[in-house]
Amino acid sequence: GRLFFVGGNWKCNGTSEDVKKIVATLNGGQVPSKDVVEIVVSPPLVFIPSVKTELKPEFQIAAQNCWVKKGGAFTGEISAEMLVNMGIPWVIIGHSERRALMNESNEFVGDKVAYALSQGLKVIACVGETLEERDAGTTMKVVAAQTKAIADKISSWDNVVLAYEPVWAIGTGKVATPAQAQEVHAELRKWLETNIKAEVAASARIIYGGSVNGSNCKELAGQKDLDGFLVGGASLKPEFIDIIKAAE
Ligand code: 13P
Repeated sequence: GRLFFVGGNWKCNGTSEDVKKIVATLNGGQVPSKDVVEIVVSPPLVFIPSVKTELKPEFQIAAQNCWVKKGGAFTGEISAEMLVNMGIPWVIIGHSERRALMNESNEFVGDKVAYALSQGLKVIACVGETLEERDAGTTMKVVAAQTKAIADKISSWDNVVLAYEPVWAIGTGKVATPAQAQEVHAELRKWLETNIKAEVAASARIIYGGSVNGSNCKELAGQKDLDGFLVGGASLKPEFIDIIKAAE
């Protein structure tokens, strides 16, 4: 079976005071054991050292981004090897906000995933269609192209979690229905089976992100091909604990 995965993407939010409160809330929550759920939180980079020190070991840490290759003269960037050096095991790559606002192309995202994996990081790789693309009936074409751009550059999916995050559901309160999410997750799994291999399709975790909260998580978690969540806004709130418990 695939181990349920819950990621909390804090995005570019919070002060050091806010972070202390969130850490206290997480440390005080009763979460299921490690054989039931894998939990990864992704604070803004400057807060990672303190969060990493203060959080209970049930919670792993992810960076929200890293540079596409070896470090050097790339002002403002952080390299994969720096994350490894700092004991940060995970990185989120290809989030739709970076694709849209920082113009990260499918190919660039594929290169980033490959380089991060080559340095020993585990990757939460994000794909997802816009509302226009969904309305035009091109959802699967779009997410398949995004997934292929990653697949073309990597030789193993062991350390990759694929996050399906429809852009129209992110930060909008418009969560995908369980049926809408399941449909795309099933098609992504089929894509992996056809284009990579059956073992990868069977073992790869495909998680859902976009307006997940404490009330809608349980029904989503019941979908056959949905192996967890990538949570934005609600990961800053006590209800993140409830979302983690949807793994049970
Ligand atoms: P929200 O949960 O705020 O919709 O954000 C989802 C997301 O983008 C997680 O990466």
